[in-house]
Amino acid sequence: LSPQSNYGSSNILVAVRCRPFSTKELQTNNQSIIRVLDANSLIVLTGGSKIRRNKPETFIFDYVFNETASQKEIFEKSTLTLIDGVLNGFNSTIFAYGATGTGKTYTMIGDGNSAGIIPAAFTDLFTKIEANQRERTYSVRMSYLEIYNESLKDLIYPSNIVLDIREDPIKGIIVSNLTEYMATNIQEVMECLNLGNQRRTVESNEVNVVSSRSHAILQIIIESRDKASGIESELTIGKLSMVDLAGSERNIMTNNKGIRLIEGSNINKSLLALGNCINALSERNERGGRIFIPYRDSKLTRLLKDSLGGNCKTVMIACISPYFECCLDTLNTLKYARRAKTI
Ligand code: ADP
Ligand code: MG
Repeated sequence: LSPQSNYGSSNILVAVRCRPFSTKELQTNNQSIIRVLDANSLIVLTGGSKIRRNKPETFIFDYVFNETASQKEIFEKSTLTLIDGVLNGFNSTIFAYGATGTGKTYTMIGDGNSAGIIPAAFTDLFTKIEANQRERTYSVRMSYLEIYNESLKDLIYPSNIVLDIREDPIKGIIVSNLTEYMATNIQEVMECLNLGNQRRTVESNEVNVVSSRSHAILQIIIESRDKASGIESELTIGKLSMVDLAGSERNIMTNNKGIRLIEGSNINKSLLALGNCINALSERNERGGRIFIPYRDSKLTRLLKDSLGGNCKTVMIACISPYFECCLDTLNTLKYARRAKTI
């Protein structure tokens, strides 16, 4: 059974990852509310003092990863199979979804000790390109941007120039004035990524001292040509988008006022639009026909229009916490993820 088979006909794969307890959580109540039953299902136990629900709820996904899952395993099951497609000219998107503090950035980028999906994807890509260099010429470009309050910011080369999302008949979706960095090795990529992360809009709210209120989108564009057939050989273009979404927690929880509330509603707008698009796409795949996909409802979905649906593969990794205080966010995240894939 190859990992790819989990996509089924919908081209959408939904995985859940539960992070381990933090040191602080371990000092208080360390009864996990998550029971991972097997590779595809989990139960949320909601008997905690804060939330009065009588029935534990079962959820089924393409993959369920418990707190012991390694970064390598997550990458291999969710992303590895997409890389060949991207090298062959297909577009793919990977999202990390979840409340602040559930492990989205850890999953996408990782920390000093264990590389997340983005560095692992680059490493695999460079290895495959290297192995194929006799037959084809490649160019790898990366861009890194943030969507904050429905406006775009270049994270590689920040400036005040307005970034606009446009649709090109040949190139697909392009962002005018966005820096594209020629990537040749993993060290350069990581440097670029770390600098970009420092430029992300991070502010504090009451849930978490530092919480990321923006969507960060890293895109890799790979162009290649067959060497033998010379200059007139066909150009293959594939794009891989890797998205660290803003925290999905509710505003009610964060007690935000004024500017923050506007911020929150824009973030929810993008997350809602994303959920609606993915849901409509998976319905179209299941039922056939021409179901309308509301890409235009947010900047995020406009940007990813050529990377969701059609021949594109989409992976959503829903990140959750085992801590009972996070129960409502956990249930919301699991419901969002379940809705993303109608089975
Ligand atoms: P988010 O980006 O969703 O706000 P982070 O990725 O910053 O969350 O994770 C919050 C904290 O939990 C970080 O200190 C991170 O290193 C840690 N963490 C998250 N997931 C894991 C994991 N699977 N294993 C070990 N530590 C994790
Ligand atoms: Mg984060």
